[in-house]
Amino acid sequence: MEATPEQVLERVFGYPSFVGEQEAIIHSVVDGGDALVLMPTGGGKSLCYQVPALCRPGCGVVISPLIALMRDQVDALRELGVRAGYLNSTLDADTAAANERALRNGELDLLYIAPERLNQPRMLELLHQSPVALFAIDEAHCVSQWGHDFRSDYLELGKLHEQFPSVPRIALTATADLRTREEIARRLDLEDARHFIASFDRPNIQYRITQKTNARQQLLRFLKTEHAGDAGIVYCLSRKKVEATAHWLREQGFNAYPYHAGLPAEDRNLNQQRFLREEGVIIVATIAFGMGIDKPDVRFVAHLDLPKSIESWYQETGRAGRDGEPATAWLAYGLQDVIKLRQMLENSEGAEEHKRAERYKLDCMLGLCEVTTCRRQVLLDYFGERLDQPCGNCDTCLQPVATWDATEAARMALSCVYRTGQRFGVNHIIDVLRGGDNQKVRQFNHNELSTWGIGTDLDANQWRSVFRQLVARGYLQVDVDGYGALHLTQSCRPILRGEENVQLREDAKEKPAKGPKTSRPDKDTAIPEEDQPLWQALRARRKRIADEHGVPPYVIFHDATLMDMLARRPLRENDMLSVSGVGESKLEKYGAEFLEVIREHEYPTDA
Ligand code: ADP
Ligand code: ZN
Repeated sequence: MEATPEQVLERVFGYPSFVGEQEAIIHSVVDGGDALVLMPTGGGKSLCYQVPALCRPGCGVVISPLIALMRDQVDALRELGVRAGYLNSTLDADTAAANERALRNGELDLLYIAPERLNQPRMLELLHQSPVALFAIDEAHCVSQWGHDFRSDYLELGKLHEQFPSVPRIALTATADLRTREEIARRLDLEDARHFIASFDRPNIQYRITQKTNARQQLLRFLKTEHAGDAGIVYCLSRKKVEATAHWLREQGFNAYPYHAGLPAEDRNLNQQRFLREEGVIIVATIAFGMGIDKPDVRFVAHLDLPKSIESWYQETGRAGRDGEPATAWLAYGLQDVIKLRQMLENSEGAEEHKRAERYKLDCMLGLCEVTTCRRQVLLDYFGERLDQPCGNCDTCLQPVATWDATEAARMALSCVYRTGQRFGVNHIIDVLRGGDNQKVRQFNHNELSTWGIGTDLDANQWRSVFRQLVARGYLQVDVDGYGALHLTQSCRPILRGEENVQLREDAKEKPAKGPKTSRPDKDTAIPEEDQPLWQALRARRKRIADEHGVPPYVIFHDATLMDMLARRPLRENDMLSVSGVGESKLEKYGAEFLEVIREHEYPTDA
């Protein structure tokens, strides 16, 4: 007699109830239906195939491109008492053979395999001889040529349906846009499958975008005041900057390590392992880092350079807060970022059509940076989703942005660009506006222009803000020659003619956002002072067990589970079982150890 999904959820995973659409998805797959599941990171996709695999006879076959993750995933499942294994190129021949045997004998509940393996005739033959409960196609967007993670091996997965007509298939992805979704359905032959599309909102992530003044100091303040001791990721555009920033953060006393594609593989692996296994590690990385990092307790993702699209930003920031606890997405950006990205784009190889799409994406990202209303509303709107109320958990909600009538300033700025011949960068133009009298101004006789010295009411930083916003809104464009010269676009005509007013945002002075839903200033301080000893003792025990088993601490118990223990203080096995995240297997393995920690704290014995 197979168990029901509810029984599996409670006994194996130790959770009292399903979240979101998990229940509907799981029942549909248990009944043999195909499904296409779109859920944001942290939405709980894994249970959508793990539970059905345990309810249906045979083994659930999970196809995943993330080979580096398979071991941790399988370790975590084994901790739960699930018979799990994997097959990929990192495995020695004996273990692989043993796993294949177990599969054929019906002794596996879940098997993770790399897509290239599934395409080997030998593997298909083996699967035909084995009881298969379902196929789960994880990271299903890898089948899409429109996205960035395309894998040609994924194209072959479309044939699974023909080969195994009676085995249900479930494809899962966190990639939101419609075009990718349609491509997945078409290429994987899932047009008739049920589509489950969850909201892409990540309410526990606080979105913050701040204007760059001194990026390093701003980052330092952010880390010190809000995320001391937390694990997080800092993204930079270049490898050089990654290394310099990691080095500097270490000098400031942070446990920070670099990660980029140019580092030797051992160093990259080592740093990634530190991030996964140790607590409070910061990884400074290019975008090469992240795909396949499913560490649940990343508390912040900071960007020191502007991402080139909203998709990228959403994906990178999405690595924060998978466990549903408060997390922060923080981005510092300035005019130089805009100039640099525009130049990179224009100078890149590639067809004009492609560049046009990239330009559009960058413009949307800039729009998000400069918006004066709720950022989450703009973000979700970009993915075709509507949020009726401002979210209350982004910087513009927490600190409403003042705007000012910048019509006059914009006109001065645009005229000055025009009068200087549209071949100078922003610093020189600001010098002219502010009546600067340096050598360059005199060399070009710009002190004789009608726009010389007309802008003394604003200081250089205020002018920079004006220019940044004019560029972001497309009134000014940056030349691609590498000197960052500005020129006018068609769209600024109505402003110059006095037919259009310009409202600009007043740049906020940097201070940490405060509000009802801000992320915890520091993971430990959110725990009340009097609970600290027990909390630290629970974490220490978890770390010890994790080290003994050679797995990351969250494989033993997630933070949320330890917090629930802290709240409930179970003293008996039965009470321990009602803690969220404690199922039968983990109770048996670790129940006694954690009960001991709690008992010692509740009833300390005299030493
Ligand atoms: P995704 O793969 O969609 O990013 P995961 O499957 O890793 O998300 O799940 C995210 C987190 O939510 C994990 O920590 C997982 O244990 C937890 N989780 C998933 N489903 C439930 C549930 N029904 N009840 C409690 N926690 C859950
Ligand atoms: Zn908001």
